[in-house]
Amino acid sequence: MINIVLFGKPGAGKGTQAEFLKSQYQLVHISTGDVFRYNIKNTTDLGKLAQSYMDQGDLVPDSVTINMLEAEVEKNHDAKGFIFDGFPRTTAQAEALDAFLSKKEMQVTATIALEATDDELVERLLKRGETSGRSDDQDEAKIRNRFDEYNQKTAPLRSFYTNQSKFHSVNGIGTIDEITARLTSIIDRF
Ligand code: ADP
Repeated sequence: MINIVLFGKPGAGKGTQAEFLKSQYQLVHISTGDVFRYNIKNTTDLGKLAQSYMDQGDLVPDSVTINMLEAEVEKNHDAKGFIFDGFPRTTAQAEALDAFLSKKEMQVTATIALEATDDELVERLLKRGETSGRSDDQDEAKIRNRFDEYNQKTAPLRSFYTNQSKFHSVNGIGTIDEITARLTSIIDRF
């Protein structure tokens, strides 16, 4: 079983690369952002709760996100493995993921970071905002707030996974195919 955590700032290309990796390795792709947006669209209780945080570019509280992620994994108990995209984003989430997976005799195989500069990312997100309709992509202040959230809460996961010898990083600038090749050269080692 291969379980990959895709790591990187908003706009780094996690969702785009996950689409390729999931078919290449027959993995189930879980994007916490997509699950939240689905719930917002369908005005579920979870969606109503998440919306106020997401609209501001803040993280949704850990307890809510962790329960949701575990439910998504449980829905796919036949899976050959998972790509976690946008989760974990805090140390508490990473600890919860380790505990949850180990109960199921599973573990994170590797965490792979897609690296790009803030200026490149802002440009990509504003461009995405023109077509995605995502309000968090249309306003530079909200984008910068997401980077601040990342720097404060998510960046510490680099050392969390480095301490487990699971952290890898790839250059996230280039063509989609080039970046996919960088990722597969890491995943193929497992
Ligand atoms: P991006 O990585 O491009 O910012 P996502 O679609 O992954 O976009 O996430 C959008 C928003 O969903 C985040 O800004 C946050 O509010 C919420 N979210 C997604 N994943 C998590 C998470 N693991 N913990 C808390 N909030 C999350």
